[in-house]
Amino acid sequence: MVRRQLAARGIADRRVLAAMAAVPREEFVGPAQVRDAYGDHPLVIGSGQTISQPYIVALMTEAAHLGRRSRVLEVGTGSGYHAAILARLAGHIWTIERLPELAATARRQLAATGADNVTVLVGDGTAGYPPAAPFDAILVAAAAAAPPPALLRQLAPAGRLIIPVGPLDVQDLLVYERTPSGIAARSLCACCFVPLIPSGAGTHGGAAPLAV
Ligand code: SAH
Repeated sequence: MVRRQLAARGIADRRVLAAMAAVPREEFVGPAQVRDAYGDHPLVIGSGQTISQPYIVALMTEAAHLGRRSRVLEVGTGSGYHAAILARLAGHIWTIERLPELAATARRQLAATGADNVTVLVGDGTAGYPPAAPFDAILVAAAAAAPPPALLRQLAPAGRLIIPVGPLDVQDLLVYERTPSGIAARSLCACCFVPLIPSGAGTHGGAAPLAV
């Protein structure tokens, strides 16, 4: 997977490639998907959701420019696989999932793979997570029509928001960076994610931490 799907397509960051080689993807998929865990495509993880294609996970992670002390927010925990990759590269990961059953499974798998620097939260990630802000990187694993303003506000100086933006059928994977002169945006590639679904309440109030 690392050589044929990632390095061959231009993922060059050695730390990212090492993390992708180290995290057992099969631990984060259901029994029916184990044989296909390293395939070059997304996988169904239940509750109508998917675990992203390995290349997209690597591309987003590389674009985040993580250091060992980085504070990272992930929106859309899903299986917990991407959080496990981020956990090997950064200081602490806060990851928010709107579906409690997925958050609970991800929490178990993250604990089983020894990721002790991840906090799994249940709630609406479009509001970010003010108690731990600002973040050096925010990665959103679900598509939005526009970047949620709360996420842009919660970026630290030089912080990066990586998010698929666009209509439901195809989006642009965008990187927004907080620079001294404002927010700069650039596109990484076209992509197709499941939709980001706001709670409608508009605040983060209900998020209950499930410490891992
Ligand atoms: N990163 C995941 C893949 C996530 S798929 C992995 O590695 O497996 C996208 C996830 O975003 C889904 O689980 C979906 O339930 C969640 N999601 C959608 N809208 C959300 C919101 N507003 N807040 C938090 N999670 C959300």
